[in-house]
Amino acid sequence: MIVGCLALNASFEPLTMVPLKRALRLVIDGKAEIVEADGGRLVHSERLTVPRPAVIRLTKFIHVPRKFRRQVTNTFLFARDRYKCQYCGRQGNELKPREALTRDHLIPLSRGGANAWNNVVTACSSCNTRKSNRLPSEIGMFPLHAPIEPHFVHLSWAVRRLTPIQARYIRFFYGEATLHQLEELEARSHKVIVAG
Ligand SMILES: [Zn+2]
Repeated sequence: MIVGCLALNASFEPLTMVPLKRALRLVIDGKAEIVEADGGRLVHSERLTVPRPAVIRLTKFIHVPRKFRRQVTNTFLFARDRYKCQYCGRQGNELKPREALTRDHLIPLSRGGANAWNNVVTACSSCNTRKSNRLPSEIGMFPLHAPIEPHFVHLSWAVRRLTPIQARYIRFFYGEATLHQLEELEARSHKVIVAG
């Protein structure tokens, strides 16, 4: 079952997943066209009946604005860091029962650090407690990977399941590597949820 609809820019660049209702609204208002329908299924509105969209394309090109970028959330932060503590290197499923993955600020908030992608890393609760409100240089704890803001495309799909039709458009625009990366992230996040 399709839970969302993949929205493409007028240039066919994949933008994001939108809820079905929003996709239909865009189509009905003439702001988007249906590129791929979900089999033969139809959706009825007050005025018309349209195929259920799996992929839509905006009729006008939009420049992706800064505000479109995702705020830091733990869901996306953990996905960016592959569910691995950036200090001790343990994965979420290797932690002890009382431990958990947390968000660590390289420059602590209490010392003027920002809650921004380049200042946050995934840390297990033990490492986070040990680091406390110190700078990496003060305690000699440096993250395994320098934190960067993920490409918004990665954020949009990190934890969503793509249908084969939708995946085709990701592969078309970003290549096989990006698609695999997304599928891997999706699989891992699923495992974490199952693990509990
Ligand atoms: Zn750790």
